[in-house]
Amino acid sequence: MLIDAHAHLQNLSAEELKHALAFTDNLQKIVVNATCEADWNDTLNLASRYHIIAPQLGIHPWYVDTVSECWLQKLSSLLLENANCGIGEIGLDYSPKYKEYRETQLLIFSAQLNLAADLKRPVSIHCVKGWEDLIRIIKQYKLTILFHGFYASVEILKELLKFDAYFSFSSKLLIHHPQEKLSELLNLIPDNRLLVESDGVPTELNETVKLLSKIKGKELEKIIEQNGEHLIST
Ligand SMILES: [Zn+2]
Repeated sequence: MLIDAHAHLQNLSAEELKHALAFTDNLQKIVVNATCEADWNDTLNLASRYHIIAPQLGIHPWYVDTVSECWLQKLSSLLLENANCGIGEIGLDYSPKYKEYRETQLLIFSAQLNLAADLKRPVSIHCVKGWEDLIRIIKQYKLTILFHGFYASVEILKELLKFDAYFSFSSKLLIHHPQEKLSELLNLIPDNRLLVESDGVPTELNETVKLLSKIKGKELEKIIEQNGEHLIST
């Protein structure tokens, strides 16, 4: 069975959640990523109610300006209390809307990576236009990293392949980006590093696997299932 390597379910109403979980029979796990301090408890509550949910807690680069003074201490103790919890969604986003928070993003990102390294937890990373800083920083750590919604240049990908890295794709990403560029990127990523994600509410992930298989010109379902098992057992 597949895993949804990067999802967000913590902000759904009870009705929406019921609907979302009604279509997950074919999934082994859904990795639900918190994005800000305010949704950490909701994410953990979901995971305690539904066995299929694997929680990750973190501060997303869009929300670095919302943290409380004791955010890091709080995150650290929640992670210690929840041994199977990963760290996500974290990263760097230098698109025009968020660039002004660059310095804060760097501080918060590094603090979370320190925590991940200390507690040996996997991290789920969002990166937009911040690859140079990101690569410089992650070089200092030995971590298992998921690059979610991955789309970057071939040069960046080659750098990222030096890490213990997984790359996950949504159907939306695979449909809306140029097929030629996607094919170039995907052919460089080893099959045992590929994953699929909804980046929201789990939908037809089997369709996403079919799109990846079509671009790579081979059947990838089995290996993507194995990759998911491998990642959640990290
Ligand atoms: Zn996300």
